[in-house]
Amino acid sequence: MTQSKETKTMLAMPKMLPHIQALETYEGVDPMEVMAERAGIPPEKIIRLNGNENPYGPSPKVGEVLGSYPNFNYYPDPGQRNLRRVLSGYLNVEPEKIVAGNGSDELIDLLLRMYVGVGDNVIIPTPTFGMYSFSAGICGGEAIPVERDENFEIDLEAMKAAITAKTKVIFLTSPNNPTGNLVPEAQTRALLDTGLIVVMDEAYFEFCGETAIPLLSEYRNLVVLRTFSKWAGLAGLRIGVGAMDPELSATMMAMKPPYSVNLAAEVALITSLEDTPRLLERVKQIVVERDRMMGKLQRVPGLTPLPSRANFILCQVPEGRGQVIFDGLCSRGIFLRYWGGGRLKDYIRISIGLPHETDAVVAAFAELCAEKGGEKDA
Ligand SMILES: *Cc1c(COP(=O)(O)O)cnc(C)c1O
Repeated sequence: MTQSKETKTMLAMPKMLPHIQALETYEGVDPMEVMAERAGIPPEKIIRLNGNENPYGPSPKVGEVLGSYPNFNYYPDPGQRNLRRVLSGYLNVEPEKIVAGNGSDELIDLLLRMYVGVGDNVIIPTPTFGMYSFSAGICGGEAIPVERDENFEIDLEAMKAAITAKTKVIFLTSPNNPTGNLVPEAQTRALLDTGLIVVMDEAYFEFCGETAIPLLSEYRNLVVLRTFSKWAGLAGLRIGVGAMDPELSATMMAMKPPYSVNLAAEVALITSLEDTPRLLERVKQIVVERDRMMGKLQRVPGLTPLPSRANFILCQVPEGRGQVIFDGLCSRGIFLRYWGGGRLKDYIRISIGLPHETDAVVAAFAELCAEKGGEKDA
């Protein structure tokens, strides 16, 4: 096996597909250690509120059950029989309409691969979750952004006007990430009436209680997504679920990698659903904390927090100061979500954490907003 370097470099490799070569990486959240090192602060002092993660962690039963689970030497059930039966109760939907995925991210990817090829497009009311355009790009498709109005509400007429013969899917997110507002049912229906596939991403359902699930019986082109990452604190185990027309779900089941939902995630989901009252009590605490943070942010001169139905608040900072304030927060060991430009250049998203974290975040904002150059001269 002594092949020379020269021989290897001379090998003519196939060209990668152009749309894959052109891909931009999806920018996920960095691990705690990385953030700590960047700020020069010990990891236990870091405040990490940039991923909408659950500050209370999973149900304590999850750790117990996983720790003593005897069957990790076996593959999970590729037909997800038990999982779909249990999820049927949670979603109030027949088991055959349900697919579980490696996070709802995987379901977005699978769905797009069913409908979007090179040259096709999907429509996204922006700003919204970044995964939709990323996954469309992997299929060789294009995400057509349709700007939301000045209140970040969906512009229905602009959405309809953006539809072309190449449009396959419309993404709706309710509550929307990062703006926190719901999609009114009339808009959902109007977009479903276009006949295109409409994905209703309800990643934050438990924080608002509003769902499009009942519309499944009326519309075969509706796909509803949920996740256990946010309300159940299982982001690191990766499990999300979709509810859809049985023909779609059958195809999705057939094309998914058979074992993409690992057994630990499956066991954790079932255990979480058995501990729903406790998890929903925590959700309630997070909602109370969100509203407390809202009040505090409103009292900081220069800040305009947007009303939110989810576990985060998008906050507008004084004009032109987004980057400076974000950097100032980072150097204090407070990591929030910032997009660095465009329409959200003066907005920062804060995930709801523990009460002492709220207090620290608001205090830091108040300090940074009061700094010179913070406000325009009165
Ligand atoms: C967090 C989030 C998801 C990701 O869910 P996973 O199940 O962790 O993949 C999906 N959609 C939206 C809008 C989100 O904010």
